[in-house]
Amino acid sequence: MVIKGLVFDFDGTLTRPGSIDFAGIKRALSCPPEVAILEFLDTLGPERLPQALATVERFEMEAAERSSPNDGVADLLTWVHSRGLPWGILTRNGRPSLNVAFTKFHPSTRDQAAFILTRDDVAPKPDPAGVLAAARLLQVPSTEIMMVGDYRFDILAGQKAGAVTVLVTNGRPSSMRSEDQPPNFTVASLADLRVLLDNLLSGRTG
Ligand SMILES: [Mg+2]
Repeated sequence: MVIKGLVFDFDGTLTRPGSIDFAGIKRALSCPPEVAILEFLDTLGPERLPQALATVERFEMEAAERSSPNDGVADLLTWVHSRGLPWGILTRNGRPSLNVAFTKFHPSTRDQAAFILTRDDVAPKPDPAGVLAAARLLQVPSTEIMMVGDYRFDILAGQKAGAVTVLVTNGRPSSMRSEDQPPNFTVASLADLRVLLDNLLSGRTG
């Protein structure tokens, strides 16, 4: 297993989980609980879409203002950078809320991000478009990309792109479903991800 670059989900992966209220957004939109928000927006006609999108963006911005970097994120990303591994962000969020939440990270960490791809740039996960775009930007095969995220859409997008996938649970129940193919790796924290990466890069695992 060769890893030449990392793609991180943002909310709940690089940030502490729980700042965004998905259930509250769905109630405000009258979106059924079992339907994902962006996919629900796709079903709306032009008479409802602008207001629904504005509602999503308002919730996202409030969440971004409340958000904070996840435990261990600066240590992990500094270490990844020191190993010469490029990394970037792939999020289903819009660009404005991403920008607000990212200001909470240390400037030296922000400077290391090789790319930031939002739903304003690429088709959102679970579509693999963002992972494939990241591979092109980093000029590495998508099979040598590690896709890291806390939700099943992150894993599904990575798998469809042929990437190595890592689910970060933050010590919570896994979001994977029984019909999903499991991720290559599951870790409880970013500290554990660093241990996994260290083992992979030194050939002790995989
Ligand atoms: Mg997430």
